[in-house]
Amino acid sequence: MLFERQTFLVAGLSRSGVAAAEYLAAKGAEVYLYDDVDDETVRAAQAKLAQAGCVAISKNELEEKTERCDILVLSPGIPVDHPLPVSFRRAGKRIIGEAELGALALRCPCVAVTGTNGKTTTVSMLEAIFKAAEKKAIACGNVGRPITACLDELGDDGIAVAEISSFQLETLHSLRPHVAVVLNVTEDHLNRHYTLENYIYLKSRILKNSAESEYAVLNYDDPVVRGFAEKTKAKIVWFSLHERVAGGYLSDGWFCFQGERVAAEDDLSVEGNHNRMNALAAICAAKLFGVPNGAIAAALKNFRGVKHRLQSVGELNGVNFIDDSKATNVDSAVQAIGSVKGESVILLGGKDKGYSYEPLFDAIKDSGVVHAVIYGENAFRILNAALKRGFTSVTLCRPFDMAVRVAFLTAKKGQHVLLSPASASFDSFRNYEERGERFVEMLALLREESAPKETQKAEEAHEAYELE
Ligand code: ADP
Repeated sequence: MLFERQTFLVAGLSRSGVAAAEYLAAKGAEVYLYDDVDDETVRAAQAKLAQAGCVAISKNELEEKTERCDILVLSPGIPVDHPLPVSFRRAGKRIIGEAELGALALRCPCVAVTGTNGKTTTVSMLEAIFKAAEKKAIACGNVGRPITACLDELGDDGIAVAEISSFQLETLHSLRPHVAVVLNVTEDHLNRHYTLENYIYLKSRILKNSAESEYAVLNYDDPVVRGFAEKTKAKIVWFSLHERVAGGYLSDGWFCFQGERVAAEDDLSVEGNHNRMNALAAICAAKLFGVPNGAIAAALKNFRGVKHRLQSVGELNGVNFIDDSKATNVDSAVQAIGSVKGESVILLGGKDKGYSYEPLFDAIKDSGVVHAVIYGENAFRILNAALKRGFTSVTLCRPFDMAVRVAFLTAKKGQHVLLSPASASFDSFRNYEERGERFVEMLALLREESAPKETQKAEEAHEAYELE
């Protein structure tokens, strides 16, 4: 791409938009910046990018400037049916994402990981495995570090371990990963992609450029992902929790790869079948890069999981608090319900994404969940699903803070309070991280409230003294 002859409009100034604009400006392109939002973060990004020669434009100037632009770089956060991309499409102009710029520029091999759930966990695990084998690997893409921001560090001898979301796949055309991993496809983001068929199609796009020389690591246990094998020229490497497939599987307490024992199941320090799946996928990708078994086992042992994914965050009066705020869809919450040992009071709710919550209560009925506290914008939809499935041990409680309090008061000693909301956070929070942090803050607050007050402590000490 001849950047210096093109005019770009970068829309959406989140982390990836900023990285894309910086990258393009450094290549000599003319770059305009636009964001629907006008807040401190956006203004700070505009000021930083102005130093690189980028020009921020307002809503009023948008139409006029858009006409001058050749290519739209669209943030994954902006839907492709937003009026701005629609106007580019109508004018026959290209729409790409930051990941596309990264894909065009990558000089080193890439492992691309997609799926509804487990992407961040798997790329983090895989990065740790590569590092244990002393390979220069960087977890990038949707995991937080934009691909274009890692290009120099990766050079031609690194390995890009790229997390790729369905939002990114909408504007990603050229990625040709050496290994493409598809973890699972279950209902999610239907408010954005409209139909499950469209969502499945987008996920399958990760394989669209693969040739016979590349690999597709696919989940044999997921019927949708299994079907992807027919859509690609890549060599298929399966992984499965249940079958001895050609690829990664479990046997007699071992993670195995093509007839070879790679690491003991006990080596994996994060819990749950979903994490065993993620480990199998990571092992397949690592073995395809020739990583020795010792490095894989060592990395699995040291891997402590990722924040806000099924993490115990503390205990109060014998009640354990578990933060799984990143469970933003039904399947991820179902995995949490199946993974947590013992009894729990679950916190459910947030922003609706258009799917059914009934499968959640099918899972809850056969689990250690004794009560559900339902909160947030979609509370009545969740309540409806609970009642339809005959689960009646519920409390409806709209504000989040109150819901956490009620969950704590409901839980008995030895039980868990499990925040695994099966919903997005955007009704009350900026993101799932903020929701998880608030959960931890509420624990601290409850702890403070339940600690005996100084005066009370003094009175008790006095009484004890008098009794003596
Ligand atoms: P993603 O990046 O795809 O959102 P994460 O690794 O951040 O995935 O995990 C998101 C949520 O899904 C967490 O609640 C986590 O416990 C759960 N999860 C992780 N791996 C899987 C999996 N393989 N299948 C289902 N749920 C998973």
